[in-house]
Amino acid sequence: MSSRRVWLFDLDNTLHDANPYIFPAISRAMGEYVAQKVGVGETAARELRDHYWRCYGATLTGLIRHHGVNPHHFLAETHNFLPELPRLLVHERALRHMLKRLPGRKIIFSNAPQRYVEAVLALIGIRQQIDSIWTIERLGFIPKPHLTAFRRLLHRERLDPRRCILVEDTAANLRAAKQLGMKTVLVSPTAQAPTYVDVLIKSVLELSRLGLTK
Ligand SMILES: [Mg+2]
Repeated sequence: MSSRRVWLFDLDNTLHDANPYIFPAISRAMGEYVAQKVGVGETAARELRDHYWRCYGATLTGLIRHHGVNPHHFLAETHNFLPELPRLLVHERALRHMLKRLPGRKIIFSNAPQRYVEAVLALIGIRQQIDSIWTIERLGFIPKPHLTAFRRLLHRERLDPRRCILVEDTAANLRAAKQLGMKTVLVSPTAQAPTYVDVLIKSVLELSRLGLTK
């Protein structure tokens, strides 16, 4: 049973803390990109980004649909800080050990781009613990929480959703996972657990305390 378990891990704010440095860097770059591409000021650009994020789950989806943006160009420009990533990354050293001891298949399921995800996993030192990586490119630029994104991953990895556990910091993504029959783990230092969350933990390291590790 346990060996047939499949872990789907979100990346940002689940396996590392993007809040101190990485999200501000992405946010700044996205703001500049949107302002320049759409031809608006800083405030209007921020409102537009928030609007698209709420409507589509990602700024990028709105930019593709309404502004003809090339997704590869957008992703490269808004993640142009990769050379500085080592000093921007905030993570727990114990993560690698925890993942090593966690039985089951481990898959990254992230709305972030491939180059960034690979760089983060390498720097955290957990690339070898991960069996498969799903990024926004591989999702055909359709992000979580769209069921299409979940279904694509499930189909291509030949997964039974009832064997899957999504570990995430974004509640909307867990709601979608639950709808498909997955187990759900919310990683949040502050949140209350909504009804569609099976387990609430403050840090991903707590997975080891749930009696799931070897
Ligand atoms: Mg996240």
